[in-house]
Amino acid sequence: MRYISTRATGTPERKRFCEILLEGLAPDGGLYLPETYPQVDAATLTRWRGLAYADLAFEILSLFVDDIPAEDLRALCRKTYTEEVFGTAAIVPLTRLEDGLYLEALSNGPTLAFKDMAMQLLGNLFEYELARRGEELNIFGATSGDTGSAAEYAMRGKKGVRVFMTSPNGRMSPFQQAQMFSLLDDNIYNIAITGVFDDCQDLVKAVSGDLEFKCKYKIGTVNSINWARLMAQVVYYFAGYLQATKTNDERVSFTVPSGNFGNVCAGHVARMMGLPIAQLVVATNENDVLDEFFRTGVYRVRGTADTHETSSPSMDISKASNFERFVFDLLGRDGVRTADLFGSQVPRQGRFDLGADPAFAQAASRYGFASGKSTHADRLATIRDTWQKYGVVVDTHTADGLKVAHEHRLPGVPMLVLETALPIKFAATIVEALGREPERPAKFAGIEALPKKVRVMAPDVQAIKDLIAQACD
Ligand SMILES: *Cc1c(COP(=O)(O)O)cnc(C)c1O
Repeated sequence: MRYISTRATGTPERKRFCEILLEGLAPDGGLYLPETYPQVDAATLTRWRGLAYADLAFEILSLFVDDIPAEDLRALCRKTYTEEVFGTAAIVPLTRLEDGLYLEALSNGPTLAFKDMAMQLLGNLFEYELARRGEELNIFGATSGDTGSAAEYAMRGKKGVRVFMTSPNGRMSPFQQAQMFSLLDDNIYNIAITGVFDDCQDLVKAVSGDLEFKCKYKIGTVNSINWARLMAQVVYYFAGYLQATKTNDERVSFTVPSGNFGNVCAGHVARMMGLPIAQLVVATNENDVLDEFFRTGVYRVRGTADTHETSSPSMDISKASNFERFVFDLLGRDGVRTADLFGSQVPRQGRFDLGADPAFAQAASRYGFASGKSTHADRLATIRDTWQKYGVVVDTHTADGLKVAHEHRLPGVPMLVLETALPIKFAATIVEALGREPERPAKFAGIEALPKKVRVMAPDVQAIKDLIAQACD
């Protein structure tokens, strides 16, 4: 298996998995994808029924990774996907709401959000590969909540890795702050910046933009464009399908609460591998970049003023950073056109329009995509209805998914809605909808009172660089 960039032209550079594992963007600015999608036939799918999640992960990862010895890869999967870390033996259990409608729980990991599903594996892969190379890595990032905490919980205590995570001082929920700042591990640096999230992102750009510093101090990221994260997410589409069906003649659909198109892009990969998925339904909140595209063919990034702060904040995006991967496939893997759209039209005009292109109709007809949008009022109504009808409390992101899922159910095709977080993370909206606090898992009792480790710093590039340099000495 080799990987190419979505902007590859001519005879593309072909890289192996471990070469791209620690990289972000390809040098041409594109995103890495496998040269071809491995195909899973019916006999293989049958053989996978009944496998433990960790062993299913190993089978699927083996199709994408040929530069880690099989026994090592299996050990990494078994170390990652344990009942101890993910709360249940099934790892991603299904909850039946009614006939043909299920929730698939991706939210039982250490930070109670779906990013743990991939990030926990990434932590173990990074530690393994860095040890093999005798290298170190300093992850420097910005977070407004879920990504940063998932990264910290994945990397804590890992040899060869340090995490420097900036967040806007005082702007995360008390629960999110407690989750991150109560990590006392030596390799975790919480940095609360006196400013807003954009100030944090500017710091990351400034530090990563200093190539000499970046090289000397091995600065890296763990953002959602990393191929290994996407690959890890492919596994739970298979696991959901295998739980919801008895034979391979059956098809299912998935509805995916979406922001950066990372989660649902893994569904696209699973479908391209031959998993019998009828539809992939993209559910957005008020930040409806993706819904607009699937309705009209227009991809239009939003400015700061048009990016709404919502009660499903992990989907508050101005552009969908993984979307280029799907468009590359949609355009018949034409790297020149993909480069023109994302490397030229988007930066210059902030948009492109495929509405009149014959390829656009194939997003639905050939690739199974559908979409919908959900607002704050929809979230409140869905959280209430789901509680009243099924006795289940869902978080705000999952509520966006459920709202849109109801609009796209097909007769005879089970609909699996991906549950991307637990309600406790977004308690204020649950109180608004139901008039009471959501349940808190026992292991999080009283975390707000735990000792905290956090530095408050001004958005000062030099001061941050000094901190990283000191930590590395
Ligand atoms: C990150 C996140 C999403 C959005 O996932 P994308 O991969 O960006 O589409 C949805 N829900 C929750 C809870 C998240 O943390």
